[in-house]
Amino acid sequence: MTDYIIRASAANSQIRAFAATTRDMAEESRKLHQTSPVATAALGRLLTAGAMMGIMMKGEDDLLTLQIKGDGPIQGLTVTADSKGRVKGYANHPEVMLPASEKGKLDVGGAVGNGILRVIMDMGMKEPYIGQTKLVSGEIAEDLTYYYAASEQVPSAVALGVLMNGDNTVRRAGGFIIQLMPFAEEETIEKLEAKISEIDSITALLDKDMTPEMILEHILGELDLEITDKIPTGYHCNCNKDRVEKAVISIGRKDIQEMIDDNETIEVNCQFCDKHYNFTVEEMKEIIKKASK
Ligand code: ZN
Repeated sequence: MTDYIIRASAANSQIRAFAATTRDMAEESRKLHQTSPVATAALGRLLTAGAMMGIMMKGEDDLLTLQIKGDGPIQGLTVTADSKGRVKGYANHPEVMLPASEKGKLDVGGAVGNGILRVIMDMGMKEPYIGQTKLVSGEIAEDLTYYYAASEQVPSAVALGVLMNGDNTVRRAGGFIIQLMPFAEEETIEKLEAKISEIDSITALLDKDMTPEMILEHILGELDLEITDKIPTGYHCNCNKDRVEKAVISIGRKDIQEMIDDNETIEVNCQFCDKHYNFTVEEMKEIIKKASK
C-alpha cells in the first residue's frame, strides 16, 4: 500500500495537521464504481477527507460517515471511514458528465450543487454524534472548512485534490487538514494564514512529487513542525453475507414474502464494492423466520 496519512503538530501544539497521499484509494474507487472524471474527483476528495478525519477518532471501533446531499446531477456522495485508515464510499450517480468549469477544472461544485454536508461519528455511545452544515460551494474542501468552523468551532484549512491522467485514471490524489487549537496565539494564526494564502493548489503540490511530509514542511516548516505518526490508508470494504442479510431484512417481511412466492433468487450488490450476493428462496425463508423472532 503506497497511500498513507501523516499526523503532525506545529507551533508548540497550537496547530495540529494531517496530510495524505491517496492516489491508489481514488483509483480503486474509480475502478470499482466506473466513475466519470468529475465523479472520480468528487468521490476521491471525499474519501481523502474521510481517511484523515477517520484517524482523528480515538476508539478502535469508531466509525465516521460523511454524507453529501445536493441538488446537482451527482445527487449524493457517501464515505465511511474507520479509525485505522480504512475507507470506502460511493456516488449516487457515478456516470455524471459535466463540461469543465471556467478555469478548465473538473466542475465538482456543479456536479454536487446546493445541499448539505452531514458528519456522523459513531463512537460506541447510545446515539452517534451528528453534525450538519449547508454546502458552501460543493467543492468539498471548502464545505468541510465551513463545517469545522460552524459546527465544531475549529478554524481549519482543508485542501483536497484529485488529478487525472489523459486516459481518466487517477494520477494524483491527496490533501491536508490543518487546524488551530483554541489556545493558538494571534501571531501563530497570522503566520499560518499568510502561508496558506501563498501556496499552490494541493494538486499542483502533489504533481511536483511532493510527499505529505514535504507538503506539511512546506506549509508549517517555519512553525516548528513535528511529525508524530504515519498511518497506512486505503480503500477497504468489509461487507459479507451477514451484513447484506441485514439489508435484505430491512426490505420488510411483505416484500421478502413476495419474492419467495415468485420463486426468485435475489441478487444484492454491495454499494461500496459492487460485490454480488445471492439469496435463494430457501435462504429467504430462513431470513423471514429470523426476522419474526
Ligand atoms: Zn462491499
